[in-house]
Amino acid sequence: HAKSMGKNRCVLCSQMIKDHVLKKMELTNLLYHAQEKGQLELYYQPQFDMAAQAIVGVEALLRWRLPEKGMVEPAQFIPLAEQSGMIYSIGEWVLETACQQNKVWQDSGLPRMRVMVNLSANQLTSPKLVQCVVRVLKKTRLPPEYLELEITETAASTNLPLVLDTLRRLKAMGVSLAIDDFGSAQSLLSRLKMLPVDRIKIDAQFVQGIEKSDKDQTVLKAMVRLIRSLGLRVVAEGVETPRQFDFLAGVMCDEVQVFFCCRPMEAAAIQAVLSEYAGLR
Ligand code: C2E
Ligand code: MG
Ligand code: MG
Ligand code: MG
Repeated sequence: HAKSMGKNRCVLCSQMIKDHVLKKMELTNLLYHAQEKGQLELYYQPQFDMAAQAIVGVEALLRWRLPEKGMVEPAQFIPLAEQSGMIYSIGEWVLETACQQNKVWQDSGLPRMRVMVNLSANQLTSPKLVQCVVRVLKKTRLPPEYLELEITETAASTNLPLVLDTLRRLKAMGVSLAIDDFGSAQSLLSRLKMLPVDRIKIDAQFVQGIEKSDKDQTVLKAMVRLIRSLGLRVVAEGVETPRQFDFLAGVMCDEVQVFFCCRPMEAAAIQAVLSEYAGLR
């Protein structure tokens, strides 16, 4: 009897793995057509400068709207795009759409600000990245200082000499660079100081712990001081409550992405927020 129960569990388990693999394959197939079918969309989340009391940028966050299935989260499909190689064309679409949108906002008279675009490790280590950025900036006519590329520490460590060369060339063009999700992976402070970046974005987990734990407050405070002492600007992500916002202002965090008042929104909705904030309405 016990033996047959064990067998049932194996069948169940293997069925679950099969389902999972099948679901992944099905999603990958759908993703192949997402771009041509116009199912990809960018949402934007504002970045707020504490000292200037101004919105100084918006982060572009990719969304996939699948008929019947609804919105698919980036965490579900970006890994599939990376594994299948689709990330290059999707990434180029994201870059061009974000730059073009920012140019439209600038031309409409909104205060100028950066648009932040996330890059996968595959894109960062591609020899075509610099060319691609040059092409997009030329096509959209967005001045390079209004584009910021976000990379992770893990991505930056895959092939350091190549990545350093790429980052230096991007900096030389006038593009800004940021490290995303700082502290979420094993980080090497020696490497941090040699990367030619402008901004470090502290991972949301550090912000979310501060209301519960004094230790988390101490860690966050130390991270902010360390980053600022390297001459870089600090951004906190995942600010969910006004208390977290006040704490970050108190420890001299330069910029925040505030979730409690500004979840990522579609372009039209974020434009209304930007106009309102700039007093243009
Ligand atoms: P990320 O770049 O670290 O972006 C921040 C993520 O946290 C976003 O999730 C955002 O919606 C969410 N977020 C921001 N503030 C808060 C908060 O206070 N609370 C909570 N609970 N969440 C908050 P999203 O849009 O699901 O994106 C997830 C990740 O997918 C991004 O993390 C980024 O790594 C990746 N991603 C998004 N768009 C792109 C893209 O165009 N290209 C690539 N390569 N990756 C992308
Ligand atoms: Mg990001
Ligand atoms: Mg992040
Ligand atoms: Mg991330």
